[in-house]
Amino acid sequence: MAEILFLGSSAPFQLPSFYCSCWTCQAARNNPKQHRTRASIALIGQETVLIDAGPDLEFQLERESIRKIQRIFITHWHFDHVWGLAALGEPSRIARWPRIEVYIPSQVAYHFDQELAYMKDRVKINPISPGDRFELPDASWEVVKTTHNPESVGYIIESSQRVAYLVDGIFPPSETLKRLKNIDLLILEATVDELLQKKGEKWDNFSLQQAIDCWKKIGSKECILTHLSCHSWNKGKLVAGFTESERLEVEAKNPGLKFAYDGMRLEI
Ligand SMILES: [Zn+2]
Ligand SMILES: [Zn+2]
Ligand SMILES: [Zn+2]
Repeated sequence: MAEILFLGSSAPFQLPSFYCSCWTCQAARNNPKQHRTRASIALIGQETVLIDAGPDLEFQLERESIRKIQRIFITHWHFDHVWGLAALGEPSRIARWPRIEVYIPSQVAYHFDQELAYMKDRVKINPISPGDRFELPDASWEVVKTTHNPESVGYIIESSQRVAYLVDGIFPPSETLKRLKNIDLLILEATVDELLQKKGEKWDNFSLQQAIDCWKKIGSKECILTHLSCHSWNKGKLVAGFTESERLEVEAKNPGLKFAYDGMRLEI
């Protein structure tokens, strides 16, 4: 048994967003429970293993009283998924952690040497590819390709349940779909709430309805949506998508569907 903890649940920018006074941002300013920091999760058991390390990582670890990290699996080299790595060099040295095992898609592992070389002695870099599997103390892990950018991957975590984390990414490629049979919980992204896509435009992130359609096609019993509340211009207004009460309505209409929030925990 292990626990999944949502360290963050926002798209590339936090909710509230410093540049915005929309209704959803104002509501989040008035209620800290509605704050969202950059999306990532931790699997907590005998070890603490992260998927992604966004720019809010230090704050997230302190909020959740996480004092040590053994491993970090990276999904892709976009700033909202990796910039927390930069803050781990000196803390891991001073706290005398063993080297952190960091798993990075092989095509972009060179970024670590170029951008984070100063902390190279604090980590062990493991270049990974779709199909790789790791037997770890709390779960077995499998790397699967996602449809987001050339290197992007997701992870299937198997403990007492099979959980897939496919963030960021739109409808998965066929080789990944084959691995998603018998998934108990699917974690997808829903970066924008409204479908704002113009005809012929191709996006690398889901709208809410596209994410729900994808979940229904894959057919797991439960689905959690994260990487939420991205701002966009809608009918001349800058908006962060749905309010909390609109999200509750979507959950009520779709049994088995939940929106992630910062600090959400579940046993797997
Ligand atoms: Zn992202
Ligand atoms: Zn806003
Ligand atoms: Zn991305």
